[in-house]
Amino acid sequence: MSVDLNVVGGTLATVDGTLDAGFSVDDGTIVAVGSRDRLPQADRTLDVDGLFVLPGIVDPHVHIDGFNSIDTYETGTAAAASGGITTVINFAWQTWTGERESEADGSVWADEGALLEAIERQKRKATGAYVDYGLHATVTAEDWSVFDEFDAVVDAGIPSFKFFTAYDIGVSNGFLRLAFERLADLDAVAVLHTEDASVCQALTDKQRQDSRDSPPDYPDARPDYAEAMALSDAVALAEATDCKYYGIHTSSRAAAEELVAVQEDGSQFRGETCTHYATLTQDAYTEQGSLALQSPPLRTADDVDAMFQYLRDGSLGVVSTDHVASTREEKAVDDWWDCSFGVNSLQTSLPIFHDEAVNQRGHSYAFLVRAMAAAPAQTFGLPKKGRLAVGADADFVVFDPTESYTITADDNASRADYSIYEGREVTGRVKQTYLRGDLVADESGIVVDRGHGEFREREVPQWGPQEGHV
Ligand SMILES: [Zn+2]
Repeated sequence: MSVDLNVVGGTLATVDGTLDAGFSVDDGTIVAVGSRDRLPQADRTLDVDGLFVLPGIVDPHVHIDGFNSIDTYETGTAAAASGGITTVINFAWQTWTGERESEADGSVWADEGALLEAIERQKRKATGAYVDYGLHATVTAEDWSVFDEFDAVVDAGIPSFKFFTAYDIGVSNGFLRLAFERLADLDAVAVLHTEDASVCQALTDKQRQDSRDSPPDYPDARPDYAEAMALSDAVALAEATDCKYYGIHTSSRAAAEELVAVQEDGSQFRGETCTHYATLTQDAYTEQGSLALQSPPLRTADDVDAMFQYLRDGSLGVVSTDHVASTREEKAVDDWWDCSFGVNSLQTSLPIFHDEAVNQRGHSYAFLVRAMAAAPAQTFGLPKKGRLAVGADADFVVFDPTESYTITADDNASRADYSIYEGREVTGRVKQTYLRGDLVADESGIVVDRGHGEFREREVPQWGPQEGHV
């Protein structure tokens, strides 16, 4: 009896280091890893001819088809697949009480939504997905009745709940306190966007009054201490309730230090940074204007160094994209406060972060695949994702570490028609992306039918000590 596929002739990038070996795939699963002569007979052989093979990247923080992201599941996951990302975790928004409607589908926000309904809505929209996806349940209204759904949401394969402390959809500390207690009972994860809403609002109002409307003024309106203050409150509540806490898009040393202060070993408190916070500074607002706007803002070179410092020691476990698709027209506005927040990077995250972490800063491939594949999968209850090991899904990326190319939005599969990395030359290129053993994308773009990706139910994750990523 033979297996479906042998992948040979390459260097495997695993969490333990690089390995000149191959692996066998049967029925979408990795069934053997080892030297070529020890693999079973296969119907097909893929010889990657000296290139690297990385586990499919797992991005636990993306915005597709909702809030202010104009990507559909088709365009967003096409960008993901083209960039070596084989699993994304998107958001199922409970409801939206603000004025803004999604360009992609205004009906999203017109619906009164409970969480379970929001999850079904996302699944209906996701029928064209090219990569596997999960969802975070996103609580956007301060209504205790939502707690009654938490149990069923976890049972539906969604053991993580997102909350904001800022914007119209932010919730109070009191509400978080009650929510965290419910989540702790279920062993689920609280996922937090932390910025102190009143500080950010007051500083924004002051900038408007003073006509400080240009993009380089923007970081002063959402300072690092506002991020750290809200994080400090949220982790205190998680500590009091014994709730698992995951801080998204950490952008500053100040915020990371607040996380580190409560963190013993990653058993209860974890955090991520994003590709842009690890690769760009606030100079981007001078160079690119409002195109580069997101929240929290890009910060200083010292903050970028802090992201790497805390990724190295494991305090921050994950690098995500926080992908939001907008058009150039929505981004390029006169006054920064009219700008649609968020940047797109599903297609560029791996090559950009690889170039910065491995080529510029000398980190290992183990560092790269832990931060972008293994840690996000483990943190969010996806044991079959994020690793090249027996029993895992055969999600992998054929990667040429030596090929240089220039990033341009002309290549975008996303509906976003710009890139904050436009013109940046990187070394290291995604050649092919496989999902469960099938080729999904190569350099010509998507090569499978729409709908190849599946909704993945996630387990309640078991968190223990989290290793550093050196
Ligand atoms: Zn986000």
